[in-house]
Amino acid sequence: MSSSEVFDVALTTPFRNLTRRSGLLIRGAAGWGEWSPFPEYGSPEILAWWAAALEAAEEGFPDPVRDWVPVNSIVPAVGPEDAARLALAGGCRTAKVKVAQAGQRFADDLERVEAVRSALGLQGRVRIDVNGAWSVDQAYRNLRQLTRFDLEYVEQPCATAEELADLRRRLARSGIEVLIAADESIRRSGDPEAVVALEAADIAVLKVQPLGGVRRCLALAERLGLPVVVSSAIESSVGIRAGVALAAALPELPYACGLNTVALLANDVTDDPLVAVEGRLPVRDVVVLEPSAEGPVWQASAEMRQWWLDRRAAMEQRRGEPR
Ligand SMILES: [Mg+2]
Repeated sequence: MSSSEVFDVALTTPFRNLTRRSGLLIRGAAGWGEWSPFPEYGSPEILAWWAAALEAAEEGFPDPVRDWVPVNSIVPAVGPEDAARLALAGGCRTAKVKVAQAGQRFADDLERVEAVRSALGLQGRVRIDVNGAWSVDQAYRNLRQLTRFDLEYVEQPCATAEELADLRRRLARSGIEVLIAADESIRRSGDPEAVVALEAADIAVLKVQPLGGVRRCLALAERLGLPVVVSSAIESSVGIRAGVALAAALPELPYACGLNTVALLANDVTDDPLVAVEGRLPVRDVVVLEPSAEGPVWQASAEMRQWWLDRRAAMEQRRGEPR
C-alpha cells in the first residue's frame, strides 16, 4: 500500500450538514494518521489537523492509563422513535442529543430529548449539544424546560465564551442546575483559555485533530484544569484511534467520550472498526484494509483523491512559507 490513501464514505444519518466524510490517511513509522479537516476549513486551522495526523503516523501515542474508554451514543436531529433507538446503540448508557437544528422547532428538541431519557431510563445520562445556536435568552428559556430531563450537561449552548459565562451566571442565580461544556469555544476560538478566565464552562470538550494532536490536547487539558470529554470530528477508525489515545492517557476521565461516531458511517477503512460494545471502546490500534483488486469500499474516486492531494500540497506550501 502506498504511504497515503484517500477515503470517502457515506453517513447513514445526515449529521449537522454532513452526508459523507472523506480524508487523507498517511502511514509513517508509528502507524496510520488521519487528516480530515472539513471541506470549508482553511489555513491556519487545517495545520493543527495536519499536526495531529503526523503525530499519529510518526510518533505514536503516549502511554495509556486505562484499557477501555466509556463512550456515549449519538442522536442526530431525528424524530423521537429513531432517537430512542439510536440512544441505546452500542450498549451505551450515556447519549448525546443534537438540538437546535436549523428548520426544526424547540418542540422537536423536547420530544427528542424526552424519547432519549425514557429509552435510557433514570440511570442513563443525557447530554445535549446546541452547537452555539442559541442566544443567552433562548438558552435560558430552553434549559429551564429541558432540566426536567435531568441533563448531564449542555454543550456549547451559545456561540461565544462571553455568552456562555453570562448564561452560566444567570442559571446559577436562578438555581437552575445544569453544567455547561465548551466545545467550539475551545477548538475554534483561537483562545481556549478564555473559557477558564471567564468561568464560562464546567467541562472542556477536546478533539484531537482540531487541537493539533494527543500531546497538545494533554497539555491543554492540564492548563485548563477542567474535566475533559474527548470527542471526535466524525472520523474513520484511524482518526478515532487518536481520540481513544487521548481519552486513555488523561489522568481522570469522569464522563463518557463522544468517540462512537464510526457508528454513523456506512463504511470504515478497517474491517474491525472502533465502535462501542457495552458502551465502551478498547484502547488498540486499527488495521487499515489492504486494497483488493477492485479497491476497498472506502476508497475515494479519482477526483476526490486529487482534491485531497491538492489540498495537502497547498497546505504544505503554506507551511513552508516564512511567517
Ligand atoms: Mg459539539
